[in-house]
Amino acid sequence: MKHPAISIENLHVSYYGNEAVKGVSLSIHPGNLVGIIGPNGAGKSTFIKAILNLIPMDKGAIKVLGKPVKEVRTKIAYVPQRNDIDWDFPITVLDVVLIGTYPNLRFFRRPKKKEKEWALKCLQRVGMEDFSKKQIGELSGGQQQRVFLARALAQKADLFFLDEPFVGVDVSSEETIVKILKELCRQGKTVIVVHHDLSKANDYFNELILLNKELISYGSVSEVFQPGIIERAYQGQFAFMKKLGV
Ligand code: ADP
Ligand code: MG
Repeated sequence: MKHPAISIENLHVSYYGNEAVKGVSLSIHPGNLVGIIGPNGAGKSTFIKAILNLIPMDKGAIKVLGKPVKEVRTKIAYVPQRNDIDWDFPITVLDVVLIGTYPNLRFFRRPKKKEKEWALKCLQRVGMEDFSKKQIGELSGGQQQRVFLARALAQKADLFFLDEPFVGVDVSSEETIVKILKELCRQGKTVIVVHHDLSKANDYFNELILLNKELISYGSVSEVFQPGIIERAYQGQFAFMKKLGV
């Protein structure tokens, strides 16, 4: 593919005058599994919401697959952070996944047999096909996250954004999710995952974006995962870093 999956120039985002993302520029190439790491409040969620055009930016230019986000929205799947989702909303697992098929439906068409079969296939891929009739609120955190990944898969997107997908998730769900994300990248898709700590960063991702309002570093895991660089983002959190042996 000739275009970068995402290109960002001088992105600034603020809330009520407080800057949350300051002057970030970078290009991500297709087929990468990219972790966005940085301490709490570093602007990680804000950064991806701005790329997705869910919140306004103060300044900057963003292109996704070489185009403005509005033109390629159906190509982008987004799994929000847990606490951005209303888990009490009365909806079945299958219906959550069917929502993923909407962007590819023509106007005024409702999902039919074909879409239902595809949604069930996506549920099967995440090991949740036996739960299709359950209410989403009845599931464990790990199961819910797998269902949201199935919804993203149902969309047949080229670009996947997941915000803290491993929070409140059991080990086996985490392994299933990581395995699927790696498969997607092998198929040439681009996957961006917000991950608030450094643990497993090495096993999970091939590139890291280290963010603390400003872009501290972006590159391969070995380029970014160096004490001097990590310290700049995690100022004052040395005890935690020592535990990791960084
Ligand atoms: P992260 O995801 O890295 O933890 P966020 O992007 O959620 O960080 O937040 C970055 C900063 O912006 C924080 O200081 C946070 O309090 C602030 N912030 C986030 N969302 C809002 C909002 N909707 N209104 C006001 N401030 C916000
Ligand atoms: Mg966040």
